[in-house]
Amino acid sequence: TLSAEDTRNMLIYVADKVIAQKPYLTVIDSAIGDGDHGIGMCGGMQKAKKKLVKMQGETNAYKLFETAGMAMLNSMGGASGVIFGSLYLEGAKGMDPKAELNVEDLAVMERKSLINIQKRGGAQAGDKTMVDALIPAVEALESHTQSSLLEALKAAEEGARQGMEDTKKYIAKYGRAKSLAPEDVIGHQDAGATSVYFIFQGMREFVE
Ligand code: ADP
Ligand code: MG
Ligand code: MG
Repeated sequence: TLSAEDTRNMLIYVADKVIAQKPYLTVIDSAIGDGDHGIGMCGGMQKAKKKLVKMQGETNAYKLFETAGMAMLNSMGGASGVIFGSLYLEGAKGMDPKAELNVEDLAVMERKSLINIQKRGGAQAGDKTMVDALIPAVEALESHTQSSLLEALKAAEEGARQGMEDTKKYIAKYGRAKSLAPEDVIGHQDAGATSVYFIFQGMREFVE
């Protein structure tokens, strides 16, 4: 399980990881999007980290996800601010406080976030969005509630990686890529799905 302090350190680790990937995310979003995804994610994660660093001693693990998500939501703006803020925020808010999180808690939290993101944004599987990476990651967590946290996160990371790869095959329903010709879009992976992959990869690396 993840103690609240582990959760805080994990979310800081993930923030640093995404911040370090800013140039790569920019390249990915520049190919078929408008090129701002790296800047947006980096800015949001920097704000989240700033809040998390100050939360030493927090005993409610959900509160850390919630605060990080809120910081992203408030600082990033645009569609992706809501979407990636919700990834942390929506599953965690309103939960009874918990001092440690197990695989099932993570699975429940991320499922709630996924449902909320789909409800708000309308993206379905195969629409070439971050949802394509998040769905298999959540399903992996749900099918590993009897496994160790590391095994579960390895499976979630692999699910997100596969989902990210699969976005190469799809035409886009959202963003600038939507108005490009299919032949210019197919073969390119989605930027948001790439961020989801780095987030789950970061969680796995932290626990390893
Ligand atoms: P913008 O598209 O406003 O420039 P970003 O570049 O930061 O914002 O983020 C783009 C990413 O957001 C896309 O790659 C996609 O994964 C995700 N995204 C866009 N619209 C949606 C949506 N309706 N539902 C889920 N994810 C979405
Ligand atoms: Mg963009
Ligand atoms: Mg933009």
